[in-house]
Amino acid sequence: MTSEILSRLAAVEGVMFDVDGCLVISDGPAGQEGSALPGAAELIAQMRASGRRVCVFTNGTAQPPAEIAAHLRHLGLGVADEEVLTPAVAAARTLRERYGQQPVLAYGGGGVVPVLRAHGINLIDPDEHRSGAASGAVAVLVGWDTDFTKPKLQFAAEAILAGAALYCTSDAPAFASKDRLNVGLSGFIVAGLSHVTGQPWTVLGKPSAFALETVCWALGTTTESTLVLGDDLYLEASMARRGGAVAGIVLTGMTTRERLADIPGDEMPEIVVESMTELAALFTDADELRMPVSTGLKR
Ligand SMILES: [Mg+2]
Repeated sequence: MTSEILSRLAAVEGVMFDVDGCLVISDGPAGQEGSALPGAAELIAQMRASGRRVCVFTNGTAQPPAEIAAHLRHLGLGVADEEVLTPAVAAARTLRERYGQQPVLAYGGGGVVPVLRAHGINLIDPDEHRSGAASGAVAVLVGWDTDFTKPKLQFAAEAILAGAALYCTSDAPAFASKDRLNVGLSGFIVAGLSHVTGQPWTVLGKPSAFALETVCWALGTTTESTLVLGDDLYLEASMARRGGAVAGIVLTGMTTRERLADIPGDEMPEIVVESMTELAALFTDADELRMPVSTGLKR
């Protein structure tokens, strides 16, 4: 590892951790079931001890952030409720900024609707389709909705055809799990809505700029001083590289060494580690380099 990498790590003030394949290996979205990956809890503690801020961003919207945080703590990972971000949080911030109090039609369960409501989004009741009236929605947001039936499709499609913009929390086809491919639901629904209406969609979760902006907002960092750490070249590394954050990939999930050999240099994550333990050692080296110049200075 070059000294350039170490100085880049030394300048990191906040770290975003992905969940599946990074902090946790599991059989469900957002770390459901599963167990913490070796060194993950220690690295979080090390980051805090070094004065850095941490947050977690999982692209899952099956559960609200507080529920994900409680589960991560149950697995031994020291994160607070407010440090857990999901695309629903990024969506709430983005939709509020773009549309203020104008009505939004949102699909998803407990990981979507209550989160939007808590952030002050004016939500239309999707059951209003029964009235047969137009929704008046300015935006349609699709999240993890295990009950997306024909009436919902009809109501959402009519809103989009009447001019509502189409958004989704994540359109990832699948995510890492222990024994099998775990398929994504939000992308499946939004692709169907796009097929029906002919309209494109905008992703608000990873790897969008909206997600990175939400990460930096939560960490209180600039993009340049933020390390985005995950197991997925598309979701985490490309988001970081495009936004000017430090891109780190851990090879405990979706990405293999063979896969890395195939990607162009400008898409290569700056940091590639086999494990959280290896990254912790790099941070230790980086901070040793930092110490002589930072003594007596407030970070
Ligand atoms: Mg992942």
